[in-house]
Amino acid sequence: MTVSDAPRGLVVLRKGRTRPLAMHHPWVFSNTVAAVEGAPEAGDLVRVQDHLGRFMGWGYFSPKSKIPVKVVSWDEAETIDGDFWRARLSQAVAYRTDFLGMGDPSAAVRLVNAEGDRIPGLIVDRYGAFLVVEFLTAGLAARSEMLVDILRELTSPAGVFERPEPDISRHEGIRRSQATLWGEEPPEHIEISEGRAKFLIDLRGGQKTGFYLDQHENRMRVGELGRGRRVLDAFCYTGGFAVHAALAGAMSVTAIDSSAESLQLAQRNAELNRVAIDFARGNAFERLRMLRLEGQTFDMVILDPPKLARSRAGVRKALRAYKDANLSALKLLDASGILVSCCCSGLVSAEQFLRAVKDAAVDAGRSLRVVERRGTSRDHPFDPACPETDYLQCLICQVTG
Ligand code: SAH
Repeated sequence: MTVSDAPRGLVVLRKGRTRPLAMHHPWVFSNTVAAVEGAPEAGDLVRVQDHLGRFMGWGYFSPKSKIPVKVVSWDEAETIDGDFWRARLSQAVAYRTDFLGMGDPSAAVRLVNAEGDRIPGLIVDRYGAFLVVEFLTAGLAARSEMLVDILRELTSPAGVFERPEPDISRHEGIRRSQATLWGEEPPEHIEISEGRAKFLIDLRGGQKTGFYLDQHENRMRVGELGRGRRVLDAFCYTGGFAVHAALAGAMSVTAIDSSAESLQLAQRNAELNRVAIDFARGNAFERLRMLRLEGQTFDMVILDPPKLARSRAGVRKALRAYKDANLSALKLLDASGILVSCCCSGLVSAEQFLRAVKDAAVDAGRSLRVVERRGTSRDHPFDPACPETDYLQCLICQVTG
């Protein structure tokens, strides 16, 4: 497929529906579009304008999507070409390496966080010498070769692997498959370091691009707090929080997940770090209740469930599930115990989540002090103009009574 840098059409917005875009929110929703002119195809650069023909922004066209354009520039004079993307990608990489100091070649880091780096449609994670890329819009998928070339120039990886997200690809109407786009084929497992912990990452079969990089700094912080404590890591995936807590000197670590593959890798991660963790497979919501019935207690419980609210309609049900998990966790905690409660449902507000935790505490007959309110690791920045991409909450609370 040949792609052009030249604009190939116009997307005209409905009268009165231009305000979010004028405020630099990059998403053009299909119900705000009055007309598409010039017959652009998927992936073409289009000019977005208001009903009077005034320029609003440049973006790529995704006709099948509920968000048919994601705007990448609000400057009419800008040319959206290879140099444009080289500048955006250099900025994103420099932020991680120069500003955050996340340049350790054995570590894992998110190098490009889509809207958070003004590159809607692109995720790039670096796991040691390998890059994993996800193209989330037709426009960037069509320019994958150019983007990979620029990433190679900027980061000199051993290989670049593509890991498409099937749901998003379907909604965007893009057809991609897992493939090595350049260089060496990544090994079955890549070993990365995170602080003093080491983890094996499965780029092909693991969740997300292989690891929950968004929790990187929370794992480091929460791990430290585990020192001397009996720790329970529910929803442990490949053992992230559990390994950190064990390395920091937890008295004991128990970890639960429903996924057998994740637990297999978690067990290997425990061995790699030479720590003892007691893993159990099961539904954490039920297991937490069972542990309580067995009379077990802990000094720290970590809850990092998957995204429980996937749509606005699902928020109420999700809040009940968050409350339920937090209630069970609180019942397991001894005096002065620590509850680490995470929520990665972007649709659940900070206020709603705090209320769910508070309601759980009231029902459990406990009082809490909120010690820290945390979010994603700093390599997952968000743009305040697009607050939907600020999705992760991590509350660290201590039982006070
Ligand atoms: N804390 C982890 C990431 C957790 S992601 C880390 O730092 O790496 C959420 C995890 O919850 C996934 O591993 C998923 O397999 C698991 N999961 C989903 N539903 C579950 C359930 N009902 N009970 C237990 N685990 C569940």
